[in-house]
Amino acid sequence: MYEPPGLPRNYERTRLKKFSELGLAEPFLRSIDALGYERATPIQAQAIPVVLQGSDLVGCAQTGTGKTAAFTLPMLDRLLSSGSADSQSEQPRSKGSKGAKRRPRTIRALVLSPTRELAAQIGDSLTKYGKHTHHRHCVVFGGVSQMRQVRSLQRGVDIVVATPGRLLDLKGQGYIDLSTIEILVLDEADQMLDMGFLPALKQIVAAVPRERQTLMFSATMPPEIRKLASHWLTDPVNIEVAPVSTPAERIAQTVHMVPKGQKIDLLLKFLKETPRSRTLVFMRTKRDADKIVKILERDGLRAAAIHGNKSQGARTRTLEQFKGSRPPILVATDIAARGLDIRDVSHIVNFDLPETPETYVHRIGRTARAGAEGAAVSFCSNGERKLLAAIEKLMKCRIAVEYSGDQGEPRPKREQPRSDQPRNDQLRPEQQPAAKPARSRRPSNRKPRRPDQAGSNGGSKGKWRRKKSASAR
Ligand code: AMP
Repeated sequence: MYEPPGLPRNYERTRLKKFSELGLAEPFLRSIDALGYERATPIQAQAIPVVLQGSDLVGCAQTGTGKTAAFTLPMLDRLLSSGSADSQSEQPRSKGSKGAKRRPRTIRALVLSPTRELAAQIGDSLTKYGKHTHHRHCVVFGGVSQMRQVRSLQRGVDIVVATPGRLLDLKGQGYIDLSTIEILVLDEADQMLDMGFLPALKQIVAAVPRERQTLMFSATMPPEIRKLASHWLTDPVNIEVAPVSTPAERIAQTVHMVPKGQKIDLLLKFLKETPRSRTLVFMRTKRDADKIVKILERDGLRAAAIHGNKSQGARTRTLEQFKGSRPPILVATDIAARGLDIRDVSHIVNFDLPETPETYVHRIGRTARAGAEGAAVSFCSNGERKLLAAIEKLMKCRIAVEYSGDQGEPRPKREQPRSDQPRNDQLRPEQQPAAKPARSRRPSNRKPRRPDQAGSNGGSKGKWRRKKSASAR
């Protein structure tokens, strides 16, 4: 049996509802049972009855909280109960009438996702949760040939899961008709905006019928998202399962204050000395991700890079290999930060701090999934202190500082957080991180050495130069 994911520590499982209490039809209860899910997560318990009723919904939930099942299960249930996908096309119009024509399937639900990987994952969820229905879905995204996607659309599908760009492309070519959509789901809406999909989303929303059910999910709820929700949704039910931007509580977070030029040495040391399973290292740029992989491999650490310059085939292959722990280290740009559901990622390393604090929340959300615990380690150089302060402000808590011996750059007094921001040890019991960071050391009074004075193991010093461009993601 699987533990429900994304719960605070010490959460009483008996407070969680059973799936049988939520009103889902029998075929779905059977799939859930086969998957070993015992109880619904808070987002599932709240969202499923609302969606089954036909209401619009705005869901604020972190990834890893069971959000995908929270919308795919009731969506499939509604499609099944209102003019079943099964009866829509496979059956002749009237039984026994010779030569009766089959009605073509029409697209009844559309799920929009910011990334190809997340779209593929939602497609997998539809397959597993809808195993005992005869619904058909297809996943469309760019970066691969459209031939298979077009073929599957031509055969007829009930549900399309898509990234906005390819969807509009196929619509423009006449392969997709959005005028029959009954349910529209916008998943990871905040990331879609971050990625510049707003104009595409506007076109898509204009092409689907006004009379529809709309579900919008987002890990964070900035004002732009609320504004869109007020335009595109009708009297939505708002569901928030964790305070906005609070990272999963099972994640032990630490930060190393380290000169920029020593980050690579610290990374090598960390990867070699820390007992860990799968580890995701986040970089700001594609170029840096490729460089780091070369450096790690030169040092005998097996690693692969995933970013937007890799072909979709290579990205899918790399992810599959990483899921099998070969290699056990994945170096990624933020393309991999959202939505990806990879079990047993024990450590997240933020080699660079992200430009936006929300991205930090998404990055660290790749660990501690499905009830596991995890650790997030960030390397912060002098130039990144403002980014660290923004992250702590967003999360309303301090990240424990872990020094790396002589490499340490103690945080200056003026940057201590304001007293109204609780430190980890001032948080309520249910807000406490699961594990105290190991070997956390207090700042010494010793004057920090300048980067050029600090000892480096030689290795990569001087070879490593970080590009500043954030656009190269
Ligand atoms: P998601 O947040 O939708 O990406 O889900 C995170 C992980 O939790 C996925 O591996 C799901 O298969 C798993 N999961 C979802 N709901 C449950 C549940 N009620 N009990 C146990 N595992 C679940």
